[in-house]
Order: sequence, then C-alpha cells, then structure tokens
Amino acid sequence: MVQGVQDVELLQKLHVGIVVHAPDASVIFLNARACELLGVSKGDMLGAQDLMPGWSLKQEDDRWLTPDEYPVNRVISSRLPLAEQVLGVVRPGHEDVTWAMVSAFPVFDADGALEKVVISFHDVSQLKHTEAVLKERAEQLRLVLEGADLGLWDWNIRSGEVKRNARWATMLGYTYEEIEHTTMQWSDFVHPDDRERAWASIIEVLEGRAPTHKLEYRMQHKDGSYRWILDQASVMQRDEAGRPVRMCGTHADVTERKLMEEEIAHQARTDYLTGVFNRRHFMALATAEIERAKRYDSDLSILMLDVDRFKRINDRHGHRVGDAVLRALCKGCHAALRTPDVFGRLGGEEFAILLPETDLEAAAEVAERLRLVAADASVPEESGRPVRFTVSIGVSAMVSDDDDIGTLLNAADRALYAAKNAGRNRVQVLAR
Ligand code: GH3
Ligand code: MG
Ligand code: MG
Repeated sequence: MVQGVQDVELLQKLHVGIVVHAPDASVIFLNARACELLGVSKGDMLGAQDLMPGWSLKQEDDRWLTPDEYPVNRVISSRLPLAEQVLGVVRPGHEDVTWAMVSAFPVFDADGALEKVVISFHDVSQLKHTEAVLKERAEQLRLVLEGADLGLWDWNIRSGEVKRNARWATMLGYTYEEIEHTTMQWSDFVHPDDRERAWASIIEVLEGRAPTHKLEYRMQHKDGSYRWILDQASVMQRDEAGRPVRMCGTHADVTERKLMEEEIAHQARTDYLTGVFNRRHFMALATAEIERAKRYDSDLSILMLDVDRFKRINDRHGHRVGDAVLRALCKGCHAALRTPDVFGRLGGEEFAILLPETDLEAAAEVAERLRLVAADASVPEESGRPVRFTVSIGVSAMVSDDDDIGTLLNAADRALYAAKNAGRNRVQVLAR
C-alpha cells in the first residue's frame, strides 16, 4: 500500500484524504489532503492512537460519535468494510464542521490477520450546503403551494409517471395514498365531456403550438359530484431534439367562482319575477331559432300572450296578487310547453312564446292549451279566496325568408289585438 515511492507520491497528490491505520488503530500513513481536511499535521498524527484529543466526529443527525464508533474502530472490530458514510469533522480549536464522505476497508495478510485499515474521505461540505439550500427551497415551495391551496403535478413524459402533492388528491376527496401517479388517473377523473378538450390543450403545448396550458374543466370528486378545476401548466424541459421531457402544472379548485358565474349568467337571462327568459335573452334565442328554421326550411310559429284586464286584478287585489298571477301563469304555461319552445316575458303582463317545428295550425292548438291553463288556474288573495284570471293569445307563423323576429312579433301582436277586440279569453290566429 505505501511501499513504492511512486505509490506514495500518487497518494499524496490525490484530492481524497487517505489515512492508513495499523491493527491497533495507530496511524501509519496519511496524505496531504487528509492533513488538510482534518486540520492536523503529519507529525501530530503519525503513531497517534487516540486520534487527537479535541478532534471529534458527528453524524448527520448531529449526534457525536463515541470513539468505538469511529470508522477505523468499527472496521477493526467488525473486520468489514464501511461504505460512504457522511460524517462531520470538527477540528481541534475550531467550531465549524467539515462534512466528509468516508469509506473504510480492512486489509488482511496471507494468514487472514488484519494488517491495516485504509480510510478514504472527501469534502462534501459544499454539497451538504447545496442540499440544505435545495431542501429549504423545496420546503418553501411546498408551503407556498399549500398556502395557495394548489394541487401540483409534475409529469415525466418518458416514464409516464406523474408526481403529485397531497392537495391534488384531497381537492377531489382522496388521500394521497389513494391516487395512482399516472396520466390515466388524471384522465379518469376528468368529466367525459371535457376530456377531449383538456387533452387537446395539453397537446398544443407539448407540440409547441401554445406556450401554456390554461383551462377550466370538471373533475369528479370522490363523492360523485364534479368540481371545476383551473389547470395551468407548461413544459419545463425538452430534449436536444425539442421533444418534451417534463411538464409541470397546478390545479386550483374554482368551483365556487364558476357556480357564481353561472348564477350571474342565469340571472342576466332570466326574468326575476317569473323565472322565464327576459326580453333581451328571448330576442337573442328567437333570432337564432328563426335563422335555424330558415336554414332547414322548417316551420316556426310565435304566440303573443297578454293577461286580460290585469290592471283590474292589481286594482282589486293589490300588486302582490298581480305578481302571484304572473308567476302562476308562467308556471302553468312552462309545464304545458316542450323543451325547445322559447318562453319569454316581453314586459308587464305580456309574454311571447316561440314554437320551433310548429305550423300555424299546431301553434293554435298550443295557444288554446295555454288559454285553458290560465283559465283553470287561480291564486289566493289575502283572505284566501281564489282569484281567477284569463289570457288572450295572438298566433302567427313564419311565411317567408324575409321574416325576422320583428315581423313575427308584429304579426302576433296584431292577432292579439284582434283577440282582445273580440272579447278576450280567446285565441286569434293571423294567417298571412
Ligand atoms: P287588457 O285586457 O287590455 O290587456 O287590459 P290590461 O289591464 O291587462 O292592460 P293594461 O296594459 O292597461 O294594464 C297592464 C297592467 O299590468 C298595468 C301594470 O300596472 C301592470 N303590471 C305590469 N307589470 C306588472 C308586474 O310586474 N306586476 C304587477 N302586479 N303588475 C304589473
Ligand atoms: Mg293585459
Ligand atoms: Mg298588456
């Protein structure tokens, strides 16, 4: 081991600390790097057995080693090698710790008797420091994500593995242990109607056509309900050929905001008193339906409905009863209409109903049904006595491609006027 002059020179130049001990633990060789790392001189160490007073070793968990736990003594007592143990060296007269990666092995003679113990070590203080900084950064990131209530995903595209944090799972009602770390696991949770859209957005980014994936879609909660998730991600790493290697993103639960938006949108479309579409939304839907009917050359009719002598109802029974009449009328009509029919309040006690795929004759039948619904309904006045009411209805149908919502409403209004003039509580058809 330390025989040849060349060997010794080589060992001296190594950037690794080497110490060779005799079987009684006394030092028989150490190189320059060992002296440097241990903060001792060659003279101090050679022949020394108690490994220098004041010089101590500790483990990564800060526990000080007792002398019989020192690498050399462990190898002497166990006769087994010791691989890559990280130990802190505190030099005599110093407080700072030099961290070293230590390996040790026994050398036996031909008879199997222990001849020497070779210890090698190198400085890993910088590494330890970097590791500590990285650990702190990771911890900071974890806390930020936790504070921001974000689920995290980190997709290794080649292996298919997706690392996630606990929040990713708990957002959907699962524990971290219950989820699988695959893309399938994500895909399975996404609402079937949103899956294609979600994948398409991710593929846009993978293929470099979009810088970031930012999408709201539904994911199924463990309780069966769907949560709205805002998913934001980008490719973190590509290989030399530009192929994506790693993609990372976050999930935020935006269900409450989404429901609120839906509620606001619903309110913007709906008449607050009766729950039917308001004038603006009725006009928008009716315009679209008319265009569609023209495109497919299908029938389309319109009804205009007005409560008879409504002013009198208000005057006799009060505005509250008047409001109740409007609500009861809408509820009854709504139940008597089909899903594609578009029912809106144009204002006051005046309503319009657009009937797709319905000719004038069929529309007149629908109108008659609605007239009876109103005539059969009643609302209680304050004393509990029923207040009855009737409606008049004008019916018209689309006849040419020049018709628009204005023409149709106008025609229905004329029919309504005729119904009022003819004595009310009746249906009047205007054939054009
Ligand atoms: P006609 O048979 O000719 O239609 O007579 P009418 O009394 O129904 O017609 P008119 O247009 O003269 O009166 C409509 C009344 O509807 C006047 C208005 O005060 C009342 N009205 C409009 N909007 C509401 C509402 O939201 N609630 C209540 N209670 N009344 C309303
Ligand atoms: Mg009226
Ligand atoms: Mg009116």
